[in-house]
Amino acid sequence: MQGKWYGWAGKIIELDLTSKKILVKPLSRDLAERFVGGRGINMKFLFDEIKPNTDPLGPENVLIFGTGPLTGTIVGSRTQVSTKAPMTGFLGDSNSGGHWGAELKFAGYDHIIIKGRSEKPVYLFIDDDEIEIRDASHLWGKNIWEVTDIIRDEESDSEIQVLGIGLAGENLVRFAAIMNTFSRANGRTGVGAVMGSKRLKCIAVRGTKGVSIADPERFLNHIKEIYQKATTSPMFDHYPVYGTPILTDMKAELGNLPVKNWSDITIEGVENVTGKALVEKYAQKNRACYGCFYHCDHFFMVKEGKYQGVIGPGLEYESVNGLGPRIGNTDFPTILHGINIVNDYGLDVVSTGGSIALAMDLYERGIITEKDTGGIPIRWGDGDVIIDLIHKIAKREGFGDLLAEGPYYMAKKIGK
Ligand code: SF4
Repeated sequence: MQGKWYGWAGKIIELDLTSKKILVKPLSRDLAERFVGGRGINMKFLFDEIKPNTDPLGPENVLIFGTGPLTGTIVGSRTQVSTKAPMTGFLGDSNSGGHWGAELKFAGYDHIIIKGRSEKPVYLFIDDDEIEIRDASHLWGKNIWEVTDIIRDEESDSEIQVLGIGLAGENLVRFAAIMNTFSRANGRTGVGAVMGSKRLKCIAVRGTKGVSIADPERFLNHIKEIYQKATTSPMFDHYPVYGTPILTDMKAELGNLPVKNWSDITIEGVENVTGKALVEKYAQKNRACYGCFYHCDHFFMVKEGKYQGVIGPGLEYESVNGLGPRIGNTDFPTILHGINIVNDYGLDVVSTGGSIALAMDLYERGIITEKDTGGIPIRWGDGDVIIDLIHKIAKREGFGDLLAEGPYYMAKKIGK
């Protein structure tokens, strides 16, 4: 590859939060050619930067954001976050949709590498060529939806894309997520805790540049071909209509639904929490990540009962199952309310469900008692307890402090 960049923006930002130094470097063409895309190049950076004894929550860890050459084109937007993971002490790597990755490309950057640790809470503001480390003391202690609104209001620009952490990341919950576009999560492996450990609240981006395509006609022909194949596939009758929650219907029918901490494969009332139940009772309209014709997400609304008026986006099979059958719950409104607070706190819904599932399993078997849980009887499917535990995990309050460690460290600490 020579000369002008196509697909890639051709630049990376390196930010050292300890020294407050910002460097804009050219992306190496050799790297782009050999490791193609956000994940590949992130892995190379990580391999070069991380030493064997690096503490995932120490200043020596690095947090890398990467986009690939297709992000920001009409194909879509994916953002890859890579680090050494607090959940496992090994590779931390998580991918999300949303709009943030495309906006980063529009601002003219492919990757951001974050090093060090700030003394005080800060956020990174990127507006095309202007890059600024800003004080985040007024944002610290707030969840990510409010933070997004504050920054957009302050800049009088509703199109700024904000990616960041809520209270879970600040409190170093081992499975804290990094959120963007309100419900899109770099959820797995605790990347949000690494961001919190660096006292970096969020990265707000506004970009006005495009992404250049080397051969637009050939590119569009490929897209048309892919579109044709995707929209005539049998899956197109399911995913754009029901989203990934349709997997609950399929798994229930096949008999491989994870139920009650994987101790069962079916649950009474499963028909209340299927993709079909979602569309019939709660879905209001579809929602898509940038450029995605699959539009698998839904805005939902609870119209009656205890959670009447709860509205939000971000329904996936993992979230419905994680706060549903996996913890013995078949009440969809509780799941929907739970999804909203999990997303706002910036928790990974899969591991949130995993921690609650393990705690309920141990309690039901008598391995832990109310002495351990702070007086809370944590029975399968108890909606009030589920919501209470989510708050406690994000704030690391009481028994939630143990659950915030994730199932592996919970089991080690309980040690029975
Ligand atoms: S709308 Fe759904 S299918 Fe499309 S990129 Fe987002 S998560 Fe993926």
